[in-house]
Amino acid sequence: MMTGRFAPSPTGSLHFGSLVAALASWLDARAAGGHWLVRMEDLDEPRVQPGAACEILRALRQLGLYWDDEVTHQSSCTARYEEALQRLGAHTYWCGCTRKEIADSSLGLAADGAAIYPGTCRRGLPPGKPARALRLKVDDSKIVFVDRVQGRREQVLSRDVGDFVLYRADGQFAYQLAVVVDDAAQGITDVVRGADLIDSTARQIFLQRLLGLPTPRYLHVPVAVNAAGEKLSKQTGAEPLDLSRAECEVRRALAFLGHPGDLAQARRSWDPGLIPAQLAAEPPR
Ligand code: GLU
Repeated sequence: MMTGRFAPSPTGSLHFGSLVAALASWLDARAAGGHWLVRMEDLDEPRVQPGAACEILRALRQLGLYWDDEVTHQSSCTARYEEALQRLGAHTYWCGCTRKEIADSSLGLAADGAAIYPGTCRRGLPPGKPARALRLKVDDSKIVFVDRVQGRREQVLSRDVGDFVLYRADGQFAYQLAVVVDDAAQGITDVVRGADLIDSTARQIFLQRLLGLPTPRYLHVPVAVNAAGEKLSKQTGAEPLDLSRAECEVRRALAFLGHPGDLAQARRSWDPGLIPAQLAAEPPR
């Protein structure tokens, strides 16, 4: 069964960019007669906003995006992340470096702007340094995947990303680990999400291989940006969705996805080939 998912972080209400991601994954699943699941990615405790998860679900209903099964919450799935860490065993190591130390000795910046970790603690924690985060050892193999919209992408993790964090210094499981474990546990066959995550995909495929999990197909839709090229969010002054005009908001998001018309039409004529093959775009007025 083709199974897609929408995996919002409940750090605020749904905005235009997250509506685009939700809509694209919903259409992709529904057009194929598949399942569509909703998963709350609420592990980042300091950023989670009380009430946001309920508000997102209410918005999805108002927009006509109904899901199958029960909504899952990552905060209640930590046992399976712990188990995955156990299985990764010798592929992981404790790192005692602070953000500043990494920035100072960094090999440069990864595509997502994070400092590339130079591997300081790979051979063991230097004496006197307390363990902070758990990292995964990456290698210099080339990870290649063909995105259904953006085309062929490749990354060499050792060069482009460095050993990355699976368990954070603040005691939270990292997004990269949780997303891989959950996509497999929920039988997700098709990941459809914003292109701001396209550079995470190689890390996720690397983890899937180490854990012996299947790799889903990937489709990354353009990220909605403002005239200055900044991702639309509360911080960049994005207008919240106006749910009293839900149909209108859906039409705008559909136009952004190359499917002008309404939800029913888009469901009938869904063709990922019509989605602009670009990483970012400004929403239509
Ligand atoms: N929780 C992530 C976000 O809201 C999405 C993760 C994913 O789709 O893989 O940006």
